[in-house]
Amino acid sequence: MAMEKDCVFCRIAAGEIPADRVYEDADNIVFKDIKPAAPVHLLAIPRRHVAKLSDCGEGEGELLAGLLLAAGRAAKAQRLGDFRLIVNNGIGAGQTVFHLHAHILAGARMSEKLL
Ligand code: AMP
Ligand code: ZN
Repeated sequence: MAMEKDCVFCRIAAGEIPADRVYEDADNIVFKDIKPAAPVHLLAIPRRHVAKLSDCGEGEGELLAGLLLAAGRAAKAQRLGDFRLIVNNGIGAGQTVFHLHAHILAGARMSEKLL
């Protein structure tokens, strides 16, 4: 398993930094965002370090599919109902943690349509 020692999400995956985990499978973890931007704000990450979506190629197809499935399963297990999934790719898009993650947002404020 590729592990970057200075990567906060690799350290969460390794159990070195605590996180409020709500779902796990062999390849992914879903945990609560430390600074929620919505009534429910979860982060879905692959255990394997990939810095960002645009770094992914054919070799990451299974990883990406697994991450989406994990996000959907976590949302279902948490009984979120409807939710929004966001991936910030790169500094210009607001990415601050360079370990691929999908934000799962749900709750009252999600009724606002952005796109
Ligand atoms: P992004 O801006 O898309 O890179 O999102 C990074 C997210 O990670 C932000 O919403 C942060 O609040 C969240 N975050 C950073 N460190 C932690 C941590 N230790 N535990 C949980 N969430 C974190
Ligand atoms: Zn990492």
